Amino acid sequence: MSLETDSRPNNLAETSISDWWLSKLSDRVDSDGAETIDVRAPATDAVIGSIPDCTEADVERAVERARNAQSSWAETSVDERSKRIDRFGDLVLKHRAELLDCLQLETGKSRRHAVEEVLDVAFTCSYYADHAADALGDDRRRGVFPAATTARVTYEPVGVVGAISPWNYPLTLSLTDVLPALVAGNTVVLKPDEKTPYTALALAELLERAGLPDGCFEVVTGRGATVGPALIDRVDYVSFTGSTETGRAVAERAGRNLIGCSLELGGKNPLLVLDDADVETSARGAVQACFTNAGQLCLAAERLYVADAIYDEFLEAFVTATRRLTLGTGFDFADDVGSLIDGDQLERVETHVEDARDRGATVLTGGRRRPDVGPFCYEPTIMTDVDEDATAACEETFGPVVSVESVPDVATAIERANDSDYGLNASVWTGDRTRGAVVAREIDCGTVCVNDAYISGWAAVDAPMGGFGDSGLGRRHSPEGVRRYLESRTIATSRIGPLDALPRLPVSWYASGMFTLARVMHRLPTVSSVKRWLRDARS
Ligand code: NAD
Repeated sequence: MSLETDSRPNNLAETSISDWWLSKLSDRVDSDGAETIDVRAPATDAVIGSIPDCTEADVERAVERARNAQSSWAETSVDERSKRIDRFGDLVLKHRAELLDCLQLETGKSRRHAVEEVLDVAFTCSYYADHAADALGDDRRRGVFPAATTARVTYEPVGVVGAISPWNYPLTLSLTDVLPALVAGNTVVLKPDEKTPYTALALAELLERAGLPDGCFEVVTGRGATVGPALIDRVDYVSFTGSTETGRAVAERAGRNLIGCSLELGGKNPLLVLDDADVETSARGAVQACFTNAGQLCLAAERLYVADAIYDEFLEAFVTATRRLTLGTGFDFADDVGSLIDGDQLERVETHVEDARDRGATVLTGGRRRPDVGPFCYEPTIMTDVDEDATAACEETFGPVVSVESVPDVATAIERANDSDYGLNASVWTGDRTRGAVVAREIDCGTVCVNDAYISGWAAVDAPMGGFGDSGLGRRHSPEGVRRYLESRTIATSRIGPLDALPRLPVSWYASGMFTLARVMHRLPTVSSVKRWLRDARS
């Protein structure tokens, strides 16, 4: 650590957070290791505190505490578990000022984007508190011979869930997978990114205050390469959010351990502006889609395809609205766009823009770092004529950089949108919502928002969220997001004893009787085929 860095102000004084508060949070981590990791404020690059660099033994103890707590948590009624999640949601809202400060301090994001995280958690708590029971109750299924046999499915928590979260949305992305795991009766060990541990530790504090018993939610801090694998080797399920590259390593390890995993990974998200779109509205939407959280959002748009007919008009409106964005690192609502997380991210963004420039791209606005605002600040950047082999055209930039291209028709826009290994989120802008829904069905992404950038898709917690292709595996949110944390058990009962040939009768009679029955059943309408027939008749 250089002297120059040490002497930089850490801007804690501007927040409701004190050194004491941060050290109290890091005391929550049970670590025997002597090593610590400095946590820096991206707004100044100054150290704001340090957290334990947990060892494998620390992870072992955290998982053991979670395992010891799990059975009594699972025996707590769903109603009671839901009530505590609800109470936690209230506490998050009550302590929003500290949480907003903490989020801004360790991510460098603007306050308006920190607000999205706090609101998201409040909505997500309400959803799981109200709906978890629906996903947890027994299901009656069809038995093989309906009158003679029954089948019922029961659901049990998998046990201890390991959650690994990234730095870009430390509040939302830690909790969105933790809450359904807890409400389903699992206990959780969370490994937050080493750049943003304090938000996760603040959550542990609030969950405890909401009445979560000891051991139900543990946090282990430290480096991904050591703590991540140690965690995956000990838990019963892992939910991972982060880059595609790390996601593959997580999946391989989970596979070796034969545990389930869900992977929420990167994206290179397209945004389509159709020829009937309102220019001002879609330009405003594109600004939000591209520059929220300085583009460090997995759902952010990085490729825009705009109908020829309105291309010039749209581009002018988009560039004008982007130039109006203010860049800053204040703890109030004055700034639109905040800092990038660190020097590596800044370098990645710069490299993508320079490479595109070298290959002939035109930078219409932005395209430069702003050390006068903050050490890692970079201007929102719009490029055209980006070569299709440029890094910015094919790799996720994860920064405030977008390329815009005109397309002659909707078919080309869809073809270009689908020309990617990723498939996380897309956005379609049109004056005709029905047309938007038709186009949405053609796009190979887990979420497609019509006339919205990403919030309507993300915040529809009752609908599954996840990625096609390299963007992930499995789904979060919705009943599916709860069911991933459950083992299902089918209980099948026969009312007529063993389903086998009757004693003393020739097996050949049994076989031909069963073949006849199979033929009859094959021809009889099933309940679902009658339902389908009635539905078709009505429409
Ligand atoms: P990353 O994969 O480097 O890190 C994510 C987490 O994994 C961190 O906690 C890190 O410490 C941990 N980790 C690192 N190495 C590990 C290993 N070997 N085993 C287990 N865990 C390990 O991700 P990042 O680059 O910091 O985050 C940005 C990426 O995350 C972008 O690609 C972005 O698109 C993606 N992301 C996806 C979503 C989504 O919901 N799909 C949300 C946010 C971010």
